[in-house]
Amino acid sequence: MTPIIRTVSDLRALARAWKSKGETIGVVPTMGALHDGHLSLARRARSECDRVITTIFVNPKQFNNPDDLKKYPRSEEADARLLATVPVDAIFAPPVEEVYPEGFISTVTLAGVAQPLEGHMRPGHFDGVATVVTKLFGMSLADRAYFGQKDWQQLQVVLRLVRDLNVPVEVVGCETIREADGLAMSSRNVQLTTRGRTKAPVLYAAITRAAEDIRSGHADRMAIREAAETMRAAGFDRVEYIELRDAETLMPSDDPTRPRRMLAAAWIDGVRLIDNIPV
Ligand code: AMP
Repeated sequence: MTPIIRTVSDLRALARAWKSKGETIGVVPTMGALHDGHLSLARRARSECDRVITTIFVNPKQFNNPDDLKKYPRSEEADARLLATVPVDAIFAPPVEEVYPEGFISTVTLAGVAQPLEGHMRPGHFDGVATVVTKLFGMSLADRAYFGQKDWQQLQVVLRLVRDLNVPVEVVGCETIREADGLAMSSRNVQLTTRGRTKAPVLYAAITRAAEDIRSGHADRMAIREAAETMRAAGFDRVEYIELRDAETLMPSDDPTRPRRMLAAAWIDGVRLIDNIPV
């Protein structure tokens, strides 16, 4: 079975031993409740690095809603079994006090890319992400870190912070893994009711259609409005946003010569889903 490490000093000792042999380290940060999306990152890391560490840490600082944190699915034993199939060399699953000991007062904050969309809807979320990711990089001595495009804005935030703070980690963005019906895999999908699960793929279908319409010359706003209407008609309770943005800065963009991304967040049956696609 894969060793499960609980303390920063044990993780550091292991990483230092690997480094002293000249081995490269890949880290895959997760919050657990693993699915094929997470495993695809671990497999990519496996194919590109000598050593792979998967971290499992439900980071309280990135939850702006205490109820969401309490309800977040946790399944460490099943996660370890899945990771053994990759396989990874170590699982780092520290308790909260190990990551944020008494007296912890530092925060990594980004302006710009971290402010709109998820940053606006979930105040403090990206401060929590940027802080924990910076810490995990420092703890694991990773050469490469693997993130999913599923959380596109998060990926851009991490790319920016690594550049801005000269963090010697290569950030690798990996494709979104989807269920057969198009729904992006997410730990939160297990919280969907049967009805919610049937309707949830409409999110991806609606933004895919809107992106196609925009590519074939339809007005951006019209295509987006139609996508929102399709989702509401399918039973989504609330469409928080559907936005066409510059893929890197996440600022509004009507320049089709630059890479653009359509990003969306919506609620169905009390579960908040996000997705994004290139346009
Ligand atoms: P999470 O456990 O939700 O914090 O996700 C951990 C990492 O897995 C993040 O980099 C996510 O973007 C990535 N991830 C989550 N779902 C998927 C997916 N369906 N496909 C690819 N990567 C994903």
